[in-house]
Amino acid sequence: MVKASEDFDKYLDEQLEKLQTDHVDFYLLHGLNAERWPQMRDLGVLKRAEHAIADGRIRHLGFSFHDGLKVFKEILDAYDKWTFCQIQYNYMDVQNQAGTQGLQYAASKGLAVVVMEPILGGRLVDPPRPIQDLWNTTARKRAPADWALQWLWNQPEVSVVLSGMSTMDQVQENVASADVSGVNTLTREELALVERVRDKYQELCPIPCTKCGYCIPCPNGVNIPRNFEIYNEGKMYDKPGSARETYKMWLPENERASLCQDCDECEEKCPQSIPISEWMPRVHAVLGEGQPYPSAN
Ligand code: SF4
Ligand code: SF4
Repeated sequence: MVKASEDFDKYLDEQLEKLQTDHVDFYLLHGLNAERWPQMRDLGVLKRAEHAIADGRIRHLGFSFHDGLKVFKEILDAYDKWTFCQIQYNYMDVQNQAGTQGLQYAASKGLAVVVMEPILGGRLVDPPRPIQDLWNTTARKRAPADWALQWLWNQPEVSVVLSGMSTMDQVQENVASADVSGVNTLTREELALVERVRDKYQELCPIPCTKCGYCIPCPNGVNIPRNFEIYNEGKMYDKPGSARETYKMWLPENERASLCQDCDECEEKCPQSIPISEWMPRVHAVLGEGQPYPSAN
């Protein structure tokens, strides 16, 4: 929304008013990427932010990020007053977006690193059988979400993990997990197991959609994350029949993949860089027309 330098102060003041506070402790430039970063830099937003720090409206300046490692490093290197950054990171995303290299690079430059999507939008909870079978091989038993969180807290470069919670049970589980967490608390065998789980998921899951919803609304009404979710689940659970049933019974006709017009409007918004318009006819062919899942995916 920032189109001119002064917009920075306009929106910050509006935010402070809405939050009913006179300052924000940790202030993020939202979702920087290859497109937004040069815009913010060239509009002089960083100078504006420094003034806001000087007059006390902001305590610490950081940025959240969805793009590749190269862009991430460029942003880190271009400005030496970042206090922190926020990246998508979990045991499935070690080479995706900023990834492990980005995490370690940011930490080496003295930034605190906030992790978002630690359990990949909930996808690492309730795993399919082959994954659960792997988790069951450990001596130390943990819930799958707990493994995902512990794997993050195990790393010294991770400062804070943001885990979305929608029930009190989840809050209690996460608090219990945090209580026994610590840097280098996972054994070598446990870390190797997480790698095997990652490999197994990659074998099972054809489309890396996290259901973040950034790609919607689609101008033609396609419910992109739901189509992908149904397709993925059919493959991961090896239940194509039940996936087709879900598609036909529970996904309204006006939200189905068949409505995709290949306009490409959604693709630039997808943090996972999924070629959505290429997938849609394939999704409908399998779920709507009963064609078999391609053997490769
Ligand atoms: S490419 Fe297809 S799914 Fe994406 S916005 Fe366009 S019509 Fe919708
Ligand atoms: S297709 Fe991409 S943007 Fe859309 S929900 Fe999935 S991950 Fe998010």
